[in-house]
Amino acid sequence: MRNDELIRRDLAVLWHPCTQMHDHESVPLLPIRSAQGVWLEDGEGGRWLDAVSSWWTCLFGHRHPPIVAAIERQLAQLDHVILAGCSHEPAVRLAEALCEAAPPGLTRVFYADNGSAAVEIALKMSFHWHLNRGDPARRRFIAVRGGYHGETLGALSVTDVPLYRSTYDALLLRPIFVASPDAYGAVDSESSEDMALRAAADLRETLEREGRNVCALILEPLVQCAGGMRMHHPRYLREARALCDAHGVHLVADEIAVGFGRTGTLFACEQAGISPDFLLLSKGLTGGFLPLSAVLTTEAVYAGFYAEHATRKAFLHSHSYTGNALACSAALAVLREFGEQPWLERNRATGAKMTALAAPFAAHPKVGEVRQTGMILAIELVRSRAGRVPFDPTERRGLRAYRHAIARGVLLRPLGDVLYWMPPYDIDDAALELLADVTAGAIAAATA
Ligand code: PMP
Repeated sequence: MRNDELIRRDLAVLWHPCTQMHDHESVPLLPIRSAQGVWLEDGEGGRWLDAVSSWWTCLFGHRHPPIVAAIERQLAQLDHVILAGCSHEPAVRLAEALCEAAPPGLTRVFYADNGSAAVEIALKMSFHWHLNRGDPARRRFIAVRGGYHGETLGALSVTDVPLYRSTYDALLLRPIFVASPDAYGAVDSESSEDMALRAAADLRETLEREGRNVCALILEPLVQCAGGMRMHHPRYLREARALCDAHGVHLVADEIAVGFGRTGTLFACEQAGISPDFLLLSKGLTGGFLPLSAVLTTEAVYAGFYAEHATRKAFLHSHSYTGNALACSAALAVLREFGEQPWLERNRATGAKMTALAAPFAAHPKVGEVRQTGMILAIELVRSRAGRVPFDPTERRGLRAYRHAIARGVLLRPLGDVLYWMPPYDIDDAALELLADVTAGAIAAATA
């Protein structure tokens, strides 16, 4: 199909995610025919740098050859099989490799097929574990202000991004929200570590008050991504780990967005030296090729469900595509890449180039902050720097930046008024320079 035909037929039949379809009366759809490395191409000479790694899924670049080869090999053998009652090598090898790579103590893997499903599983498993131990009072969750964990009803319940949540509020569970350690909220001379400790004090008070009714605390380690790429000091994670232990509460680390080298280490929890009770992985898990998620947990959690059938302690949760063999083979290829190639070192060098290229933006009068954790760099646009007064969201400044960038060959997809770079790891210097140039123009266009 030619571009114009593709777009016409798309708009006649598709309903796109996270989109007011009416916007497409003025904002053009990108007709993507092929992709390679950091580039998305339309087949008619148009191409766009994928600065957001296709919703943070793409790790090493699109169609990264070792992952293509792994899926092709697997395709010749086994496509998919029901994972209840059956086993297959990619599922077993991947579970072994994930437990090996993850922080210590995580020894069991439960698969699903997307991030939100992994969140649902962790919430249900934690509740059910306490129930199986004879503690039915623990039925509440603690979540962090500004956090995002997905949009199915359970995952949305522990999400605190009003854009996604408020419409459905009447349908949701009632978690207890605690203060965010987000360093952007630091006041006066507070350091990011001070801010982390202030938020931890709120968590401490909450647990002292409510701890006996709580199953689990869920958080996004180091970067609250969909909430605006807000970043925090690892100290918060250490404090949260200790407080959860003191109150018999599970710690759920949602590394769906930050896992697999995004923050500088393979998993973000490593930077705090902690192990959660549940580690949630998806997105980059397959390098951005196929949907898959994994819930890693401890032997203690697993043991809480292991009993005679008649005790009715089993975790009877399932998704049809659990442990899909093609997706598992892609994920195995991802872990092999990290073992065989120095991606984390390369990311450190790329991250340093991103820092240098973005440094001039901090002086712009409409930029409230430029912040970075590893391969995530965010630029917060504000009406006024003094007091960091945000723009009126109805002005849709971020959308202006998006349109500016699209017209210049870069797919930047701001979160509200936060522009960010989260590129595939194989981005080279020329592409980084293009990204920086176009971003400078996008900031100007959005804030004019
Ligand atoms: N948790 C986090 C931290 C995420 O960023 C996302 C997706 N943006 C999810 C959960 C939900 O994942 P999915 O979109 O695959 O349901």
